[in-house]
Amino acid sequence: MAFLFKSGDELFDEAVNHINLKEYVKARADFSKCIEKGASKSSLASIYISIIAMVQNPENPNNYKALANNLRSVNPGMVEFGLTQVDGMRLADECDLVAQRIILMSTNGNAAVREKKGKDLIQLGLQYQIKIGKDTLKTDELIYGDTAMSGIKESLSIQALGYETLASSAVLTDPKQAAEYLQNAYNYRRQAGDDGSHDKQLIESYSKSAKCWICGRTTTGEGIHFLAMSSEITPFMRNGQDDLLKSAPANFEAVYVCRPCYSAISRRSDAISRKYYDDAIRDLRATEARLQMEIAEVRAHASSMAIRMR
Ligand SMILES: [Zn+2]
Repeated sequence: MAFLFKSGDELFDEAVNHINLKEYVKARADFSKCIEKGASKSSLASIYISIIAMVQNPENPNNYKALANNLRSVNPGMVEFGLTQVDGMRLADECDLVAQRIILMSTNGNAAVREKKGKDLIQLGLQYQIKIGKDTLKTDELIYGDTAMSGIKESLSIQALGYETLASSAVLTDPKQAAEYLQNAYNYRRQAGDDGSHDKQLIESYSKSAKCWICGRTTTGEGIHFLAMSSEITPFMRNGQDDLLKSAPANFEAVYVCRPCYSAISRRSDAISRKYYDDAIRDLRATEARLQMEIAEVRAHASSMAIRMR
């Protein structure tokens, strides 16, 4: 049973081999034993265990925080993990940023919460530019083997996301402001190499104005403050000079209606449908109860006939 007498350093080397083969469970077990034996490379082994935890569960921000703390307390210089080589302090900075990104992305709430989230994302994007810059993201390399994403590109994407989030918080109160935020987001997306078509489409919608066919109010922001409602605009009406007549999609199969009119109609029609549904269910239940009663009567009659026949 020679393996019982392996030294801590031998266990360490064995664990590193497991990492190269991506056998992380075995690697973690060997690193743990190495630490138990108080081997000279124990602190490095604890860093490797933190990296494995991050690789195996990359959605948990605590894994990045733990790795960053570990790296700062050990200060190991260059760290090698599989094919990846990275300066420990540089990796610690990146882990802090990734943890912040995951936490921010999972934040959701009302307009005020989203406004703060948008601003925080923009600040985070700037930090990626400052702390990582042109260098590639080592966490992406360690976790996914992806060596294409640079700090700059990640910074642009995160800032775009920040402006998109700001737009979503502003659109209910100020669609023009939302469109301006989206213009910034679009510029960042383009710089990052994305086509930004979703932003462009929203900018067009949020900048568009229409007159409500029902109340005649003018409003801005398609899909938010006014909506297309299925209708039929007859050819005679299409030729009118009134600007209200122009306030319809190009196929004349809908009219634009402001959200207050739209929601008043849909809520009332929901309430009416609900009443019809409830009435129908009540009638169905009554019929069912009557039938059950009749069946019971027939059964009782049949059994009394059977008793008399005996
Ligand atoms: Zn209206």
